[in-house]
Amino acid sequence: MSSNSDKILGIDLGGTRIKTGLVDPQGNILLSKNFLTSAELGRQKALKRIVKIIKKLVKIYTQFGSKPNLIGIGAPGVIDRAQGIIKHSPNLPDWNEVPLAQLIAEEAGIPTFMDKDANVVTYGEKWIGAGQDFQNFVCLTLGTGVGSGLFLNGRPWFGNQGSGPEFGHVTIEPRGEPCGCGNRGCLETLASASHLVKRAQKGLDKKIPTLLGELLNHKTKPLTAKVVYEAARRGDPFCISLFADLGRYLGIALANMVHTLLLEGVILGGGLSKASTIFLPYLEKEFNKRLTMADSKLISIRISSLGEKSGILGAARMAKERQNK
Ligand SMILES: [Zn+2]
Repeated sequence: MSSNSDKILGIDLGGTRIKTGLVDPQGNILLSKNFLTSAELGRQKALKRIVKIIKKLVKIYTQFGSKPNLIGIGAPGVIDRAQGIIKHSPNLPDWNEVPLAQLIAEEAGIPTFMDKDANVVTYGEKWIGAGQDFQNFVCLTLGTGVGSGLFLNGRPWFGNQGSGPEFGHVTIEPRGEPCGCGNRGCLETLASASHLVKRAQKGLDKKIPTLLGELLNHKTKPLTAKVVYEAARRGDPFCISLFADLGRYLGIALANMVHTLLLEGVILGGGLSKASTIFLPYLEKEFNKRLTMADSKLISIRISSLGEKSGILGAARMAKERQNK
């Protein structure tokens, strides 16, 4: 007889979209359902809607004999992981001090754990992704921003303030661009999709010769990191130079991290990691040059093997590990 009590609902909460999946103990996503965050409705309405949808999902799974026994949520921003509260989030304006885990636990009647999105991805990569054989590694999520999660001695490491490292906000360029966090020249201003797009736009404004104009169909399409990647893939020198810079800055940042913690591995995830086919050679060259006090041959730099599923799978794993504590 199959047990109904071993499935976990993994939730990947983003500023635009919410991805959910019913995850089995082997890491298979049995059923998946995505819906819009609808943050533009305002905090109260959007939250009410989200909790209602989750409750309905649980009800449907229960009717089919697959009631989840746990819920895990990965969320963007500053998260109080112990209390399951979104403190604040640049992607979810006005979502301050939102006790999302508690709201969902009460409505769905299922224990619910929440963590920072990048921590969740790191759990997923360690469980069944690119980090299974790593004991000491960092995972960077390259998306709109740059998130990070860290494992030391085979265990997630959250640090003194409890949410894990923020490698996206280490200073790489002292006089660099302002960052959303209030600092300037953070890694995030040099290696995120949003800042890549800003640089591409500057190039367009300066009329630098590039394929971008043509790919944007002369401004009828929005400029996104995906379009910049497509232009680079087609050999556009300007867009290749943007990815080359991004790779070099990442190489500098990663050498700093490895010098600090003597990690054995680095995993790059997030949407922008798809462009690693272009930026990885620049990253590796810079990394090897900067890593003077450790043997770079003993350090593996890998791309996430879970891709878009990492948030759902990682949220499920995070909930499972925290329940067992
Ligand atoms: Zn910053």
